[in-house]
Amino acid sequence: MEVRMEIDAYEYTPGPMGDKWLEELKQGRLTASKCSSCGTVFLPPKLYCPVCRGEAKELVPTGKGRAVNVVQVKVDDEGKKLTRPVKLALIRFDGIFGGLLHYVSDEVEEGDQVKPKFKVERRGSITDIEFFERV
Ligand SMILES: [Zn+2]
Repeated sequence: MEVRMEIDAYEYTPGPMGDKWLEELKQGRLTASKCSSCGTVFLPPKLYCPVCRGEAKELVPTGKGRAVNVVQVKVDDEGKKLTRPVKLALIRFDGIFGGLLHYVSDEVEEGDQVKPKFKVERRGSITDIEFFERV
Protein backbone atom coordinates (compact mmCIF):
# COMPACT_ATOMS: atom_id res chain seq x y z
CA MET A 1 0.00 0.00 0.00
CA GLU A 2 1.29 3.43 -0.90
CA VAL A 3 0.65 6.26 1.50
CA ARG A 4 1.32 9.80 0.37
CA MET A 5 1.71 12.76 2.68
CA GLU A 6 1.34 16.28 1.37
CA ILE A 7 3.60 18.62 3.32
CA ASP A 8 3.90 22.15 2.01
CA ALA A 9 5.22 23.88 5.08
CA TYR A 10 5.55 23.09 8.73
CA GLU A 11 6.96 24.62 11.84
CA TYR A 12 9.48 22.83 13.95
CA THR A 13 10.13 23.70 17.56
CA PRO A 14 13.70 22.77 18.48
CA GLY A 15 13.02 22.44 22.22
CA PRO A 16 15.44 23.32 25.04
CA MET A 17 18.33 21.13 23.82
CA GLY A 18 17.81 22.27 20.23
CA ASP A 19 17.84 25.90 21.35
CA LYS A 20 21.19 25.37 23.11
CA TRP A 21 22.55 23.57 20.04
CA LEU A 22 21.50 26.40 17.71
CA GLU A 23 23.14 28.93 20.05
CA GLU A 24 26.38 26.90 19.78
CA LEU A 25 26.09 27.02 15.97
CA LYS A 26 25.67 30.79 16.20
CA GLN A 27 28.99 30.86 18.06
CA GLY A 28 30.59 28.76 15.30
CA ARG A 29 30.70 25.50 17.23
CA LEU A 30 29.25 22.18 16.07
CA THR A 31 28.21 20.07 19.04
CA ALA A 32 26.18 16.93 19.83
CA SER A 33 23.91 15.90 22.72
CA LYS A 34 25.35 13.63 25.41
CA CYS A 35 23.09 11.32 27.40
CA SER A 36 23.57 11.70 31.15
CA SER A 37 22.43 8.08 31.75
CA CYS A 38 24.32 5.91 29.24
CA GLY A 39 26.84 8.40 27.84
CA THR A 40 25.74 8.04 24.21
CA VAL A 41 26.60 11.11 22.14
CA PHE A 42 24.16 11.77 19.32
CA LEU A 43 22.98 13.98 16.49
CA PRO A 44 20.63 15.59 15.66
CA PRO A 45 20.46 17.02 19.18
CA LYS A 46 17.50 16.01 21.28
CA LEU A 47 16.58 16.16 24.94
CA TYR A 48 16.11 12.39 25.18
CA CYS A 49 18.61 9.71 24.21
CA PRO A 50 17.70 7.59 21.15
CA VAL A 51 19.32 4.54 22.82
CA CYS A 52 18.04 4.52 26.43
CA ARG A 53 15.58 7.47 26.58
CA GLY A 54 17.70 9.04 29.32
CA GLU A 55 17.95 12.79 29.48
CA ALA A 56 20.70 14.63 27.65
CA LYS A 57 21.89 17.54 29.74
CA GLU A 58 25.00 18.69 27.92
CA LEU A 59 26.46 19.34 24.50
CA VAL A 60 29.94 18.15 23.54
CA PRO A 61 32.13 18.98 20.50
CA THR A 62 31.75 16.66 17.52
CA GLY A 63 35.29 16.71 16.15
CA LYS A 64 35.86 15.95 12.48
CA GLY A 65 33.23 14.22 10.40
CA ARG A 66 33.23 11.84 7.47
CA ALA A 67 31.11 12.25 4.34
CA VAL A 68 29.07 9.15 3.52
CA ASN A 69 26.31 8.71 0.96
CA VAL A 70 27.50 11.65 -1.14
CA VAL A 71 25.03 12.56 -3.87
CA GLN A 72 24.99 15.21 -6.56
CA VAL A 73 21.65 16.95 -6.96
CA LYS A 74 20.78 18.44 -10.35
CA VAL A 75 17.10 19.30 -9.93
CA ASP A 76 15.11 21.09 -7.24
CA ASP A 77 12.23 19.56 -5.28
CA GLU A 78 9.85 20.36 -8.14
CA GLY A 79 12.02 18.68 -10.78
CA LYS A 80 13.31 21.94 -12.22
CA LYS A 81 16.96 21.84 -13.33
CA LEU A 82 19.29 23.75 -10.99
CA THR A 83 21.55 26.37 -12.58
CA ARG A 84 24.44 24.68 -10.76
CA PRO A 85 24.38 21.14 -9.32
CA VAL A 86 24.95 20.83 -5.56
CA LYS A 87 26.36 17.99 -3.48
CA LEU A 88 24.76 16.63 -0.34
CA ALA A 89 26.04 14.02 2.09
CA LEU A 90 25.26 12.33 5.33
CA ILE A 91 27.99 13.48 7.71
CA ARG A 92 28.92 10.96 10.38
CA PHE A 93 31.24 11.63 13.32
CA ASP A 94 33.47 9.16 15.17
CA GLY A 95 31.81 7.97 18.36
CA ILE A 96 28.55 9.79 17.63
CA PHE A 97 25.23 8.05 17.05
CA GLY A 98 23.35 9.47 14.03
CA GLY A 99 24.64 12.27 11.85
CA LEU A 100 23.68 15.30 9.81
CA LEU A 101 22.53 15.73 6.23
CA HIS A 102 24.14 18.79 4.72
CA TYR A 103 25.76 20.38 1.69
CA VAL A 104 29.36 19.46 0.95
CA SER A 105 31.83 21.34 -1.25
CA ASP A 106 32.35 20.15 -4.83
CA GLU A 107 35.64 18.32 -4.17
CA VAL A 108 34.22 16.12 -1.37
CA GLU A 109 33.95 12.43 -2.24
CA GLU A 110 32.58 9.41 -0.42
CA GLY A 111 34.61 8.67 2.74
CA ASP A 112 36.43 12.02 2.89
CA GLN A 113 37.10 13.55 6.27
CA VAL A 114 35.23 16.85 6.48
CA LYS A 115 34.73 19.86 8.76
CA PRO A 116 32.04 22.52 8.81
CA LYS A 117 32.62 25.79 6.99
CA PHE A 118 30.71 28.38 9.01
CA LYS A 119 29.31 31.59 7.57
CA VAL A 120 30.79 34.83 8.92
CA GLU A 121 27.37 36.18 9.88
CA ARG A 122 25.40 33.58 11.82
CA ARG A 123 21.90 33.61 13.23
CA GLY A 124 21.53 30.32 15.13
CA SER A 125 20.45 28.00 12.32
CA ILE A 126 21.69 24.82 10.63
CA THR A 127 22.35 27.08 7.63
CA ASP A 128 25.04 28.85 9.71
CA ILE A 129 27.10 25.99 8.31
CA GLU A 130 27.55 26.93 4.66
CA PHE A 131 28.77 23.44 3.79
CA PHE A 132 31.20 20.76 4.93
CA GLU A 133 34.62 20.86 3.28
CA ARG A 134 37.44 18.35 2.98
CA VAL A 135 39.94 18.46 5.86
ZN1 LIG B 1 21.27 7.07 26.89
